[in-house]
Amino acid sequence: MKNRLRVLYLSTEVAPFAKTGGLADVASALPKALFEDGHDVRVIMPKYGNINERRYTLREVIRLKEIPIRVGKQDHMVSAKSAFLPDTKVQVYFLDYKPFFERTDYYVDSATGVDFPDNAERFFLFCKAVLETIKLLHWEPHIIHCNDWQTAMVPWLLKNNYQEDPFFAKAITVLSVHNLAYQGSFPTETLQRLGLPEELGSAGSELECYGKINFLKAGLSAADIITTVSPTYAIEIQNDPELGCGLNGLLKDRKEDLCGILNGVDYAVWNPETDPLIPEKFSAANLKGKIKNKEELMTRARLPYNPAVPVIGVISRLADQKGFDLIAAAMDDLLALKVQMVILGTGEPKYHKLLEKLSKAHPQQVAVFLTFDDQLAHLIEAGSDMFLMPSRYEPCGLNQMYSLRYGTIPIVRKTGGLADTIIDYDADANHGNGFVFEKYDAKALKSAVSRAVKLFKDDKSWQKLIKRCMKLDFSWHAAADKYVKLYLKLENSKKKK
Ligand code: ADP
Repeated sequence: MKNRLRVLYLSTEVAPFAKTGGLADVASALPKALFEDGHDVRVIMPKYGNINERRYTLREVIRLKEIPIRVGKQDHMVSAKSAFLPDTKVQVYFLDYKPFFERTDYYVDSATGVDFPDNAERFFLFCKAVLETIKLLHWEPHIIHCNDWQTAMVPWLLKNNYQEDPFFAKAITVLSVHNLAYQGSFPTETLQRLGLPEELGSAGSELECYGKINFLKAGLSAADIITTVSPTYAIEIQNDPELGCGLNGLLKDRKEDLCGILNGVDYAVWNPETDPLIPEKFSAANLKGKIKNKEELMTRARLPYNPAVPVIGVISRLADQKGFDLIAAAMDDLLALKVQMVILGTGEPKYHKLLEKLSKAHPQQVAVFLTFDDQLAHLIEAGSDMFLMPSRYEPCGLNQMYSLRYGTIPIVRKTGGLADTIIDYDADANHGNGFVFEKYDAKALKSAVSRAVKLFKDDKSWQKLIKRCMKLDFSWHAAADKYVKLYLKLENSKKKK
């Protein structure tokens, strides 16, 4: 094939092996789509303690055993195992270093609720080990595609430690930002533990940021190109000081190299016609199964089933970003609209407490599951009538797109990827695919929900809306195409240099 690219894709979570949020879905679906497009893609991720080696048939790789990786004063012996993304031929390498990765949590210790104290060493080691691993594989990538702060030191390392290495002469680095609020920021004392010179903590260094070291900033400075996961978020992070999280200036300086590409949906995983995780399959042509899923969801949630009462689903990390303070502020008004709510999420303890209180206060109307449960997530998508995402900000958001395919009408705040995917029904009844509110307050949220509830009561219009939503196509191919065009443009410009 002409223009076949070797793409190394780096992520610290990849579904179904390890997932805390949307990144895992992207890191599985995009490599798959690139592979189907004819490119040679390999993925590297850490081997965490809860990745089942048997279930996914992880194999040892003889030449990738006991690779010495220096972090601080010590060489750490890293080995790699390999497997395929399920039902594909996309090769995934798992970097195995038990003292750092043999844990069931990835970034935050759920026992304490705070970040692991050795996160800087863990992910710096991962970045270094990635580069040594591919050298040992003799597999020279054209593109090294990094994601978020955990892999952001790769472009920095290439620029600073490997600039003379002919093995990487061709390599172009892409850094995708899935959420700018997570930056990998550590006190400058960390430099010593990483074995890096002290002066890198001083102003003017790519690694320094507001008196600390910052992995994401180093990556954003060093990468050849920066992408983020929706066009609107790409603009917001340059212009909105809150969303820019202290990096607006740098992002503006690099605006020629920054672009937003909307994530897609992996319809092999999120499709009510084939979904093995839901009790009854359904399609736009035959919606009977959706009713069964709603009944089943109500049974799971221990809420009374009534087809005339709209069920609103929520699936989310419980973080400030996601708008739970709004949900709490609007709850009484929402429940007065005679809706039921099923909420699935884990995260910050304050939201665990808040949601528990709400479900206890309204046992007939609110059910809360404070856990991570993929199967239940699919059932909520399939069995709810509406899906609520009142995010303060949302780089892309996947659940609104999953909801569309399951005929579950999204109610969203107009921000980031939500603004790029959902059109308000009342503003445009011919193209609308959800209900949108703009102002971040409880009144605006309530008004959007009440508009949705009003339409729900008009069964004919509601069914028509459901069918339109289910037919929309947000598949990965369009997004993968955009990435490939970007890769090729970069490759050509590098050749010319
Ligand atoms: P983010 O990446 O900010 O968490 P996204 O909407 O991009 O948000 O992606 C979230 C992904 O994580 C979706 O696939 C969603 O279904 C899943 N998810 C979030 N919380 C849970 C949970 N508690 N149980 C199961 N899946 C969850």
